Amino acid sequence: MTSHLLSGLMAKAPAADKPFIKVAGGRTITYGDLVKESARLAATLVELGVRPGDRVAVQVDKSAEAIVLYLATVRAGAIFLPLNTAYTLTELDYFLGDAEPRLVVCDPAKYDGIKELAGRHGIAAVETLDGEGRGSLVDKAAALPDAAAAAFVDAPRGADDLAAILYTSGTTGRSKGAMLSHDNLLSNALTLVDYWRFTDQDVLLHALPIFHTHGLFVATNTILAAGATMLFLPKFDADKVMALLPEATSMMGVPTFYTRLLQHDGLTRDATAHIRLFVSGSAPLLAETHREWRERTGHAILERYGMTETNMNTSNPYDGDRIAGTVGYPLPGVDLRVVDADTRQAVGPDGIGVIEVRGPNVFKGYWRNPEKTQEEFRADGFFITGDLGKVDTAGYVHIVGRAKDLIISGGFNVYPKEIEEAIDDLPGVVESAVIGLPHPDFGEGVVAAVVADPQNPADPATIAAALAERLAKFKQPKHVFIVDELPRNTMGKVQKNILRQRFADVFQ
Ligand code: ATP
Ligand code: MG
Repeated sequence: MTSHLLSGLMAKAPAADKPFIKVAGGRTITYGDLVKESARLAATLVELGVRPGDRVAVQVDKSAEAIVLYLATVRAGAIFLPLNTAYTLTELDYFLGDAEPRLVVCDPAKYDGIKELAGRHGIAAVETLDGEGRGSLVDKAAALPDAAAAAFVDAPRGADDLAAILYTSGTTGRSKGAMLSHDNLLSNALTLVDYWRFTDQDVLLHALPIFHTHGLFVATNTILAAGATMLFLPKFDADKVMALLPEATSMMGVPTFYTRLLQHDGLTRDATAHIRLFVSGSAPLLAETHREWRERTGHAILERYGMTETNMNTSNPYDGDRIAGTVGYPLPGVDLRVVDADTRQAVGPDGIGVIEVRGPNVFKGYWRNPEKTQEEFRADGFFITGDLGKVDTAGYVHIVGRAKDLIISGGFNVYPKEIEEAIDDLPGVVESAVIGLPHPDFGEGVVAAVVADPQNPADPATIAAALAERLAKFKQPKHVFIVDELPRNTMGKVQKNILRQRFADVFQ
């Protein structure tokens, strides 16, 4: 047995001189480099005491070397555990205590603090890697005798062994560590290569962070499995993306990439003519963004839906209609059903309920949290996503929001997305977020936070009057607040918990 994930991803074995990652304005790592350098780094990890099953926690800026470290960790049979670069020492205290890694790799600038923190958790090995791919870890790898590097053999790991623990984005509460097996990752990558038609001719423009499932697994694993190339930008920058588009065939982004690019004058049909695929996910893409993008570029953005725990679950079709405001069909091999939140019985077409999924993509449970794992799985193996949605009569899945964001006002269910869409359609509105807040009579009262268009700002009274004509009384916001912007986390997700805190006492 070899490494299930590695041998699966590398099965196409592109030519050694084929570029795997080209860093914008920096170095290129070829597939040959990747094989050699990941073996050398894996041997270095073993030298540092990393054994199969150990966690390697990594909080580093984006670099090609960080991706090599991911693959080296897997080759050593260990578990890759990336951490959001925004986490502070206080937050890292939780993650290091929870994950108990054998080794921590961090930015040199954070070394002192992390070394001290790691020491308190009994973790001796702390190495550094910076955004340019330099640091003590690469120095140690370079110092390893050639014979030791050449003698490295992949630790045997099977389909169900863990390859990674990825913490969720913490949008609804404390981040949970999702245990992902070799086959969770491999099966999803192979599905996506097929579904999205990736080939070795593709060049993916990559401006996402690599500590999250989107930039790490959806992008990197799919590109590896296709034997294709990634063009790395350290972070999203509309000018830089526009400048690099001519070299790419495809891009994966969060919705804010698309809304920001729409504000760029350079975005035209010509500028995107040679791109074959724009993918969006991680947060809802406004139907309006989808339409505007199509008008400006001629491309229908392909929206898909996934989670840290499940990799990708659904996708709009490559060939068929990519329908704005939907996340498409369940991917091949993924069973998806919508159940009533109370009775847990499946609901029919167009009925709204909780989305549950089952398939080779679905994770092995929450790290060191068997109670939570048990709560979130049904007896027949379906995982309760916590997202509310419906499947329409044509089989397209629609996400209407998170179960935690559902508002129950006076005993009636209010789905925030319906209200948000109604608000977003009004003149003078850029976007909105609708939340429920404790209300003495109704249990919860509906409240809207609205970002007004600076050119022609809508005002709360006009918004309320327009909604009164369109929505049943119980759905109408009792307060409309104009805000400068919606609070978002690094993945572009609206943090409704922050809005709920901010306006907590409006009805008190
Ligand atoms: P936490 O679980 O810690 O609260 P999170 O759910 O935001 O954080 P992720 O795993 O990064 O962490 O995000 C998965 C969630 O993102 C999904 O459950 C869904 O709510 C949302 N999501 C992903 N893609 C889409 C999409 N295309 N449309 C709407 N929502 C999406
Ligand atoms: Mg979640």
